[in-house]
Amino acid sequence: MRKINRIFVRGHWSLPELLNGYKELFVNHIHPDDMYDEEKSRIVHFEPDVGTIEWPEPDLPESAGAFNEDLCAFFGAYLGFLSACRDVKKVFKPFVTDTLHRDSAFPDTHALAKMFDDFEVREGHPFQKMKCRMSRFAYRPQRDADGQMIFCEQIDFLDLRSFLYYDFWNGLRLNRLPTKCGQCGRFFLLEGGKYSRYCLHPLTDEPGKTCRDVGSKRRYDDRCKTDPVWQIYNRAYKTHYARYMKMKMTAGEFESWSRHASELRDRAAGDLISFEAYCGEIRR
Ligand SMILES: [Zn+2]
Repeated sequence: MRKINRIFVRGHWSLPELLNGYKELFVNHIHPDDMYDEEKSRIVHFEPDVGTIEWPEPDLPESAGAFNEDLCAFFGAYLGFLSACRDVKKVFKPFVTDTLHRDSAFPDTHALAKMFDDFEVREGHPFQKMKCRMSRFAYRPQRDADGQMIFCEQIDFLDLRSFLYYDFWNGLRLNRLPTKCGQCGRFFLLEGGKYSRYCLHPLTDEPGKTCRDVGSKRRYDDRCKTDPVWQIYNRAYKTHYARYMKMKMTAGEFESWSRHASELRDRAAGDLISFEAYCGEIRR
């Protein structure tokens, strides 16, 4: 799918710029020599003009009220950014790493709804507490880079959290699954097609290969080195494979043995059978 999404950020300005919009509220706001030069009359020291104002100064309350609103919006954007970062770490990330991939597959709509519900109940409804705030929603035909007409959604979000909430769930509905690479640990997006736990990033030690090329194999090797259940499985697999190569087992027998063995291994890994029973059983 072509990348056609665009993000526009509005109301992005610096604090001195904002303060200079309300010069009348500060001491020495216009130097007499620079009175007619807008650029030169910019102030850099902001000392509230409380001493010289005669109360009630007729224009001040309105201007001060607007200033207060602008200042709240300015810091509100930063606070919104921080709380969105917190949500990513405390809510989105655990949902992705602990719940979303529990079936190791692209979830259909029922599975996704079930995961959503399970997570909400278990974690105290964190997604429900996020209010997705939009000020405008519209459909718009647009031309893409090739001049083709495309159907677009245009949404004005009131804060970053709202954008993340919408983008995350809308993406999941469209089968775009964020996931954490089991090899390099980076987050990446699975977009339809084959499900994988590994990304397509080149490896640092072997740039010609990606995490996906080697992930499963390395994970298998690591497990066989460190996990007794996998060690036993690997040894039994090698013995049975050798039997098959020496034609002491048919292809069908070997296949049914390996299916049985991987089931046993998963049951032993999940503590559903004892380690001793597993060792005895898998060698048969
Ligand atoms: Zn990776």
